[in-house]
Amino acid sequence: MSGRTSGVLFLISAPSGAGKTTVCQNLLAANSDLVRAITCTTRPARDGEVNGRDYYFLDETEFISKIEGDAFLEHAVVYGNRYGTLKSEVQRLLESGKNILLNIDVQGAALLRRRAESDPLIRDSLVTVFLTPASWEELERRLRSRATDSETIILKRLRAAAVELGASEAFDYLVLSETMDEDRRRMETILEGESMRRSRNQLPEVLCEAAEKWGAK
Ligand code: 5GP
Repeated sequence: MSGRTSGVLFLISAPSGAGKTTVCQNLLAANSDLVRAITCTTRPARDGEVNGRDYYFLDETEFISKIEGDAFLEHAVVYGNRYGTLKSEVQRLLESGKNILLNIDVQGAALLRRRAESDPLIRDSLVTVFLTPASWEELERRLRSRATDSETIILKRLRAAAVELGASEAFDYLVLSETMDEDRRRMETILEGESMRRSRNQLPEVLCEAAEKWGAK
């Protein structure tokens, strides 16, 4: 018996182009005890994206009604579209004892940190990681290597990156991005350590029973 009491809500934020999507995909592929919390967005689905797998794609009216129904743990506008993390999704996965991967922006991370002050489920599970290349040149190179973005969008994302780097101080961990394998390994190191926190684990029952017997002798 593992004696596990609660999972880790493993939040990763990064400037766009930092390699966050790849590291998240690699982490999920290599760790069967880690599941992704699917979040909501009002942006249109990109080619190949599937509703309920990549995001819950909502229209503006549906999103607003979820805000009004207090369905979100956090929600924010990112590059002109709304994004939000459903309470029900996170609660369900955390209560099943799984580790949850949450790929959200720095505004969402700040909102969840604030929420942790009053919500014990989030307080006991939230671990925040900020991922960034170690140099501005590398950040810009990675952004530019995504041939799909126009110059205007690249400049907008670079300005946003400067703001996001400023917000990185409030995160629990800072991971400087190198190779894909090294990034995944570093994330796994954090996740493994956090999973072994005493507050997240109880002694196995069989061990307690044996200790009780020996203590009684
Ligand atoms: P994309 O549209 O490229 O998939 O994501 C754009 C940004 O929105 C990424 O930085 C992603 O992490 C962030 N994001 C995705 N879901 C959420 C969410 O539920 N809340 C917040 N605050 N950001 C999100």
